[in-house]
Amino acid sequence: MSFKSDIEIAREANKKPIQEIGAKLGIGSEYLLPYGHDKAKVSQDFIANLNGREDGKLILVTAINPTPAGEGKTTTTVGLGDGLNRIGKNAAICIREASLGPCFGMKGGAAGGGYAQVVPMEEMNLHFTGDFHAITSAHNLLSAMIDNHIYWGNELEIDERRIVWRRVMDMNDRALRDIVVSLGGVANGFPRQGGFDITVASEVMAILCLANDLDDLQKRLGDIIVAYRRDRTPIYARDINADGAMTVLLKDAMQPNLVQTLENNPAFVHGGPFANIAHGCNSVIATKTALKLADYVVTEAGFGADLGAEKFMDIKCRKAGIAPDAVVIVATVRAMKMNGGVAKADLGEENVAAVEQGCPNLGRHIANVKSFGVPVVVAINHFVTDTEAEIKAVKDYVESQGSEAILCQHWEKGSEGTVELATRVAELADGGWSSFAPLYPDEMPLFEKVETIAKRIYHADEVLADKKIRDQLRAWEEAGYGHLPICMAKTQYSFSTDPNLRGAPTGHSVPVREVRLSAGAGFIVVICGEIMTMPGLPRRPSAEAIMLNAEGEVEGLF
Ligand code: ADP
Ligand code: MG
Repeated sequence: MSFKSDIEIAREANKKPIQEIGAKLGIGSEYLLPYGHDKAKVSQDFIANLNGREDGKLILVTAINPTPAGEGKTTTTVGLGDGLNRIGKNAAICIREASLGPCFGMKGGAAGGGYAQVVPMEEMNLHFTGDFHAITSAHNLLSAMIDNHIYWGNELEIDERRIVWRRVMDMNDRALRDIVVSLGGVANGFPRQGGFDITVASEVMAILCLANDLDDLQKRLGDIIVAYRRDRTPIYARDINADGAMTVLLKDAMQPNLVQTLENNPAFVHGGPFANIAHGCNSVIATKTALKLADYVVTEAGFGADLGAEKFMDIKCRKAGIAPDAVVIVATVRAMKMNGGVAKADLGEENVAAVEQGCPNLGRHIANVKSFGVPVVVAINHFVTDTEAEIKAVKDYVESQGSEAILCQHWEKGSEGTVELATRVAELADGGWSSFAPLYPDEMPLFEKVETIAKRIYHADEVLADKKIRDQLRAWEEAGYGHLPICMAKTQYSFSTDPNLRGAPTGHSVPVREVRLSAGAGFIVVICGEIMTMPGLPRRPSAEAIMLNAEGEVEGLF
């Protein structure tokens, strides 16, 4: 069997003018700000006038712990959105924008796959509408203003050893992780150690994705802590007078981008924060806008449900005042097999026993998501190599957990492959069964919040943290940050902090290495293990194979 590549399928798409896609959602063309013929931003004025309208149903797509086999959350989000439209519902999807780093590093796009994709695929994976460049510029403006403030006399008494605001660029470049800035003599300022993170790791990205409107955006930008004085008191972006100009740079980027799926259904693609040191969901403004315009909104959260869904519920929904009506957990036979101990090279062979052995990972995610009070359905994202017996093993297991699993073939067939899933999801969302509540209340002490996540979601026995870390959390509580939610940064490959511990481990401990305050975004980052905020390129980066062909088309993107 041979299959077309994602880019070949995307190139054959029968795209409609973006005004027609906007019209499906009732957005007049005067409110669409077109970027070419197939992309548009939805104007801030239009969004501001939607307030009185009722919200549609919100559906979250999440997954089991990722394996190198690939799960297909974005692909399933697109497939389900198209499936809902196919059965006559008015549905839109909301996904994240792509970072250039992974695009030129490892293969793997952000626009879905097979016959469940968002187009224009090349642009989505490259510069798109320039949002990430705007975020990069806003972030680096603040960096420049900090060093400039010191250069001109340091009135605020910034302790140069305690500057926590780094620089960013949207590229995997390990050479810039740790650098010395301001070398070259008196005219260039005071040398100090600095470094770059990738743009998606910027707090500005997280802020843009959580802000409700431009006023809220500016307030949050002002709340960013950039450095500390010798007496450890914080210095804010507001003190450097950077918040106004940063907001100006971000005003267009704050408007959600509208594109379409291969089946010409509306897709909002907006924002893309890291899923470890940030919350890993598309923007609140895009999700809320979509909820006002569509009856069903399907959205995705990064990594597995232990990280992505937990943060979606405890950070995004809590802050935005929204709640999911149903959750889809994506599982694949291949990933079940890997969880059951099969090596990637052996995934092609039928192995029902390994599927059965891997299923408890899925089982725990089902139970965890249900504990938020939301109805759950499992989507088995079908790979052509899956056998009947393996699929049946997953279905039987899920049934034994009191849930149901539905086979989906959107990758091969588009919406035709998700009719059953879409029908069931619509039923669940319309049934009014969701009694969503976040995992912990705002008032709970910070360390207890961390323990609650570790015990209830990861099924760990304990959280290990030095006195220094506990003292820091207490100091933030005293400084008025105790109500903030927790943003866990741990490996996505396991419920535990050990990436090799697959399945559904118990009895483990969660060691906390570091805690950081993202005062602008409004969460406390709890770091368990190594977290990379500036990735490197692999030995053979995909950039080596990316080029223009004789027709002027992009080759080598996936
Ligand atoms: P996630 O959002 O979970 O990271 P994606 O939906 O982006 O995953 O899919 C990752 C890759 O796997 C994509 O390149 C996609 O084409 C591929 N993929 C997804 N589902 C299937 C499938 N059913 N069969 C073959 N390849 C798939
Ligand atoms: Mg994805």
